Amino acid sequence: MKLIMENWRRFTKIIKENVESEPPEENLLSRALSAVAPESEQEQEIPDSEPEKPLPPANKSFPIVDGRNFMNPLPSTSKVNAGFYQSRGPKPSDKHGAIDQNVSIGTPCVAVASGVVVESINQVEYDKNCSDFINIMKKEVFGFDPENKKEKAHAARLIFGTKGYANRRKLTFWATKLWIRLTRNQKWKAKALEKLNSVSSDWNGIRKFQDFLTSQGHKNFCAMFMRHLLRLSAYKERIHKRMMAGKYVNILTDPDQRGRQWQFSYMHMDKYNVNNGDRVEAGQIIGSTGTTGIADDPPHLHFVMRRGRNGRKVDPTKYFPGLR
Ligand SMILES: [Zn+2]
Repeated sequence: MKLIMENWRRFTKIIKENVESEPPEENLLSRALSAVAPESEQEQEIPDSEPEKPLPPANKSFPIVDGRNFMNPLPSTSKVNAGFYQSRGPKPSDKHGAIDQNVSIGTPCVAVASGVVVESINQVEYDKNCSDFINIMKKEVFGFDPENKKEKAHAARLIFGTKGYANRRKLTFWATKLWIRLTRNQKWKAKALEKLNSVSSDWNGIRKFQDFLTSQGHKNFCAMFMRHLLRLSAYKERIHKRMMAGKYVNILTDPDQRGRQWQFSYMHMDKYNVNNGDRVEAGQIIGSTGTTGIADDPPHLHFVMRRGRNGRKVDPTKYFPGLR
């Protein structure tokens, strides 16, 4: 009996010690949190490589170039009318990849950060692209004779072929519609070709032809028609797909506070006043907005932001304070 009592006492003592040494659950939790907190705060802090540099940025989460945040390309408006993720096709990857800001033609655009002009199309190149485009339109789309077996087969390959063009660029419903129109409705084809022959071989001509298609009650058709046609011509005659962008300027920024460089594209410009290799300063007017290239109405700036030279596209609204 004495042995039993002794064992019982020892047993209860062990239990008591163990239970008491175990802290309450909330104590454990708060201890764990207090151990983690300082580290996570440290992680969030952006290391400042040059602490002696004056003017700490207004918001450290935005890239800072030359001591300044990126500035709105159109100081007159911060409104984004077509966003980065807007769908532009059946595939999830077919997204806009840029922001559109609707503004009237001739609105001045500024360099969003200091950097260098790395690419632009000059007026001569642009005019040549336009005239080539019109010629291809005549030749490839309106020029072929549907009764001519060889030409018909050629056109079919261009539009429906499983190899070559169709393999590279999946044509959509709209191209099919175009094909049906051109092969079945000879009257419409003749009318369109007549219009095309009457317009000039420059951008005004292309616009006039677009207006013609729109006046026929095919506004959406017109937009898709022009896009596909341009892709087709890019494939056929190596007219660069940049024709789609119209006149444009690409600027590569100086490194930001983390050493990253950014490339910005200003597209559908009316005119620009900088050349390849030019140095531009943040806030400098580089040109004005327009409707060049295949731009849907209304006139807008198509603004692209990339990480590094020709790098991955990113959503500008995430990096521009105030852009919405
Ligand atoms: Zn756009």
